[in-house]
Formats: sequence, C-alpha cells, structure tokens
Amino acid sequence: MPTFFSYPDIELQQKLKNTAEAIVAPGKGILAVDESNEGIGKLLASVGLVNNENNRRKYRQLLFTTDHTLSKSISAVILFDETVYQKTDDGTPFMDILKKNNIIPGIKVDRDVVPLFLSEDEFTTQGLDDLAKRCAEYSKQGCRFAKWRCPLKIGEHTPSFLAIQDTANVLARYAAVCQSQGLVPIVEPDVLLDGDHDIDRCQKVTEVVLAAVYKALNDHHVFLEGTLLKPNMVTPGQECLKRSNPKEIVSATVTALLRTVPAAVPGIAFLSGGQSEEEATLNLNAINQVNMKKPWALTFSYGRALQASVWKTWAGKDGNVLKAQKELLKRAEANGLASLGKYTNAVSTSAGDASNYSKNHKY
Ligand code: 13P
Repeated sequence: MPTFFSYPDIELQQKLKNTAEAIVAPGKGILAVDESNEGIGKLLASVGLVNNENNRRKYRQLLFTTDHTLSKSISAVILFDETVYQKTDDGTPFMDILKKNNIIPGIKVDRDVVPLFLSEDEFTTQGLDDLAKRCAEYSKQGCRFAKWRCPLKIGEHTPSFLAIQDTANVLARYAAVCQSQGLVPIVEPDVLLDGDHDIDRCQKVTEVVLAAVYKALNDHHVFLEGTLLKPNMVTPGQECLKRSNPKEIVSATVTALLRTVPAAVPGIAFLSGGQSEEEATLNLNAINQVNMKKPWALTFSYGRALQASVWKTWAGKDGNVLKAQKELLKRAEANGLASLGKYTNAVSTSAGDASNYSKNHKY
C-alpha cells in the first residue's frame, strides 16, 4: 500500500486560510520592506547615511509609525530578520505597533542566492536547513506569514530545465515547512525584468515556471488555500526595443496565471520588479479592470514601487518624516484602489514616474 500524506490538520488549515484571505482582503495589499542589510545599505547611502543598525531602524520606524489609516490599504508588511526585534525611539516594539494598527507582520526567510552549479550560470536560493526552527521562532514573535524569493533570468538558454526544477522544489519544500509552523507561505518565483526578450517569451517562461511550481507544491502536499503567490507581471525585458502597452501586459499576465495557478489559491500579490510607482499602480488597476476570468484576488506586494517616493522625500532628514509618510499613504491608497480596479485619479508623488529598474538588482 502506498502511503498517502494528508494536509495540515483542519484547525491549522483554517488558520492558514484565514491569514491568507486577510492578507488579500478587498482593497488591500502588502508593503514589502524586507530589503537585506546590503540592499537597504545602497538606499541609505543614496540619502547620505551610513548603513548601521540604528539608521536601518530609523527608516523602518518612519514606515511603521505612519498614520494608522495606512491599514485601509496595507494589510501586511514583510520584514527582514532584525526588524522583527527592533523598537521605536520610545521603546515600543515594531511588532506591537503593527498589530495595534491591524497590519499583519510577515518575514522573509530565504537566505538569498548562491550559484547553482553546472547550470547556465544560474542561481539557487538557500535557507532550507534550519527553516522549521526559524519559522517556529518567527511564529512565536508574532509573524503570521513568510516570503521566499527565487529569481530566474531569461537568456538565450535560460531559465534552464535544471533551474526551473530547482526553483519549484525549493519553493515547495519552503512552503510545506512554513505551513507546518503555522505561517502562510508567500511563494515568489521572480522571472526577472533583465534582458532583451519580448513579452511573448516572458509569458511562455512565466507559464513554464508557474506550472512547475504548482506541480511541486502539489507533490509536496502543500495546502494551497493557505498560500499566496507573488509573481512578476508579464512584460518585455528592460532592453527589448519592442515595448508593450498596458493592454498587452494585462492580457499576457492574466493568461499566464489562468493557465497555471489553481483557483484554490486565494490571492496573487505582484512584485513591482523595477517598474515605476505609477506604472505598477496603472498595470495593477488594468489587471483588475480587464474582462477575463479571475478566480483569485489580484493585488500588490510592492517594495520599490511603494517606497521610491518615501526615500526621495525623506532624504535622511528627521524634519521630512511626516512628508515622507504622506507619500507612503498616497501610494498605498493608489494601489489599494488599483487592487479593486478603481484607480481613476492619478496621484502625484515625488518619484512616481521614475523607473526603479537597476540591472542585477540586489534586494
Ligand atoms: P519589488 O516590488 O521592489 O520588486 O520588491 C518586492 C519584493 O519583495 C521582492 O522580493
């Protein structure tokens, strides 16, 4: 007799499902602030600050002490390890502020990429070995979901079969471990914007990758109702000369998702991947307006596209904190509306139209 494994027990299933559904509640999405210390270091340098724990804390304090109305459009934030334990100037733990404001804390648990040997110069994402232990600790600290990102680059021969299979299996193992510890896994296969490929190639690659990911999630008995997907939108590569209009982007994106993402998944929260703030908002809005079948909530989990104007306006100065928080509120509200397909009056923010793309971007 073969052994059949079952999903997490009913009580845990319900808890995971409730959390996943709350994260993608109508009109809400995720603020991703899980930049690594190296990643945030570049941003701090751009405003003339050194990359130390206190400056990283001060920036994130700015975000989390934004007026509580932020939670009208932000359901959840993704944190980086040290942020879970940090406090405001007056000693209040960040986690308490988030909970008080009805924002669900989550945690990035991958440990970034290392070379995938004998591939086409590709990468694998590490961090599985002690994952259950780390998830248990984050769960104890109050985190309710996790994120793991696997980047894949489109090139002449990439992503290779090897890299796609590796990504799918790593994401499935991660997701199963998270669920065993009560955390909703956000599964993030990120087909990068880097390259000169056209939109059709990006669509095909995205479909092949997502199909492999969901085969692996099923093989690993992951409870899909208690997961979320964080994919790229389907767009031409940054260096492709043939640009696509929002209509083409929307149709390619929704088609790719329809062909591959089971309807049991409650929500899909896009990454912004280097799009400008306004582009990311407009594309999300168009995705939610298009008249196609859409069995999941479609929302945002933006990093750069929610923070570019905040960084520009803050510029590292205490006196600019309030103004920078207003920029965050504006972008969050715009994306909240876009997640309902109701973004009609364009908002203006200090870096709204600036591209956030950088080659080989490091989070
Ligand atoms: P971007 O929106 O800047 O792509 O970041 C989202 C994210 O969390 C990637 O892991």
